[in-house]
Amino acid sequence: MIMTHPGLPLYWAYAIGIMMLLLGLLTMAIKAPTTSASRSISLAKLPLIGDLFRFLAKYTWPLLLLKIIFAALFITVITAGLWGTPIVERNLATTLTWNLWWTGIIIAIVFSGSAWCALCPWDNIASWLVNHSIWRRSSSQSRLQLKVPNMLRSVWPASLLFIGFTWLELGIGIVASPYATAMLALLMLILATTTLALFEGKAFCRYMCPVGRTVGAYSQLAPIALRPIDSEICRNCKTLECFHGSDKIAPCPTKIVMGRLQENTYCTSCGNCTQSCPSSNVSWQLRSPSSEAIKEAKPHMDEAFFLLILLSLTLFHGLTMLDYWEGYLSEMAQLINDSGQLIISFSIGLGVTLILPIFIYCLCIGLTQGLLKKRLGAMVTKLSFNKLFSGFAFISLPLAFSYHIAHNLTHFVRESSDWLSLVTNPLGTGAEPLSMMEKHTRHMEMMVSENTLFIMQGIIIAIGFVIATQVIRHRGHRLFAAQGITLLPMILFAALVTGFNLWMLVQPMTMRM
Ligand code: SF4
Ligand code: SF4
Repeated sequence: MIMTHPGLPLYWAYAIGIMMLLLGLLTMAIKAPTTSASRSISLAKLPLIGDLFRFLAKYTWPLLLLKIIFAALFITVITAGLWGTPIVERNLATTLTWNLWWTGIIIAIVFSGSAWCALCPWDNIASWLVNHSIWRRSSSQSRLQLKVPNMLRSVWPASLLFIGFTWLELGIGIVASPYATAMLALLMLILATTTLALFEGKAFCRYMCPVGRTVGAYSQLAPIALRPIDSEICRNCKTLECFHGSDKIAPCPTKIVMGRLQENTYCTSCGNCTQSCPSSNVSWQLRSPSSEAIKEAKPHMDEAFFLLILLSLTLFHGLTMLDYWEGYLSEMAQLINDSGQLIISFSIGLGVTLILPIFIYCLCIGLTQGLLKKRLGAMVTKLSFNKLFSGFAFISLPLAFSYHIAHNLTHFVRESSDWLSLVTNPLGTGAEPLSMMEKHTRHMEMMVSENTLFIMQGIIIAIGFVIATQVIRHRGHRLFAAQGITLLPMILFAALVTGFNLWMLVQPMTMRM
């Protein structure tokens, strides 16, 4: 029997619906300020905690220790997946990967930006294997340092891998197999190691890793980022060690000059620049949340597609956990005579969910372009569809991020595993599957009360819409001189996605494990 979790009470959907209506009208009525500097403060300059952040930037061993702990956890997951019990809820590989890690790294972005990438065991183990060094600049000749081919120099490889992994995860059912989970983790390690051995820099992190690109994209919303402590020092810097590296410390793996860094997307928080900068001028900075998504990040077409694919796949994850999805699968299977694992029916559903939001987004962009042409006439001739498409794509970020967190909170809060027995017996040796009674008890014993969960979910979805309207208002005004009714199509897009997110949260949701 499939157990489900109750959905968000309907009154939350009505309350957020009214808020969307009012905020949509306000967004059209009030112009975005033409000059509004983002506020930020370096954590290294703060009293009390400033010393801690300076310490973390100066010494390598705290980060190295964390890297080793995460690498050890990764090896435990692989061991448990390959040699442990196939019972999904009794094996550390599946519970840690799908229940804790995938939810945890997304929530962690709010508090630590792209810090996960610094701890990522795929990249760290690959670096240790290829560079033969655990921290210092390597003199190893085992890297070919080839130029990354032009066809790979975009985030399309990461987008395609993301779609492929979603197909494997939900279509083939990797989530329900410790062995397949371990094989997928190993495949990523092989990819990271091979690309590191072949290409210069970190081509895997920059262009291919769907997790890294997701963390990078979402960290444009984060209120915390690595930045220069004093930008004047960077302006006068001639040596750029943060970019080139020093005798002992490797260069920036994603070719960033810290003094010119405007967006978090490709910073992996690796800490090389905090070590190599001769002026010790790099530390964590607190800044206005979402400022990059709202105005600072530069639009690029491949990244715009990645953001929209991220939104579509996030919606798809939610959709597959509703009762309707099972109904769709069996009806489609009957229609096309799909038998067995219903892979064709699943793939059609995935394809439609992937394309539909992008198609609706294109329609809204087309409408915006039409309205702008009418309003601005000859001035708008340079305003191509592509410019509008990439400029407004940042609205996908808060919409995807808010649903991603709200949805996963249900799994996290309602499906907390018996971590003590999993830690003491990660392979699940001799363990029995959860009985119906145990499943029911787990379902009832939530980490926070049901009402607290609903309040958190409602607020998160509302914040997602608020940020999306800010993106529309600022980007519309600054990039395209759009205001008033010309912003309506994009506001409708944000409202439609938020409405769909709310509808999914209101439905009962299938328990994952
Ligand atoms: S971070 Fe350091 S090395 Fe990089 S530009 Fe600034 S002062 Fe120069
Ligand atoms: S070296 Fe580059 S990737 Fe690493 S923390 Fe500095 S800017 Fe980010």
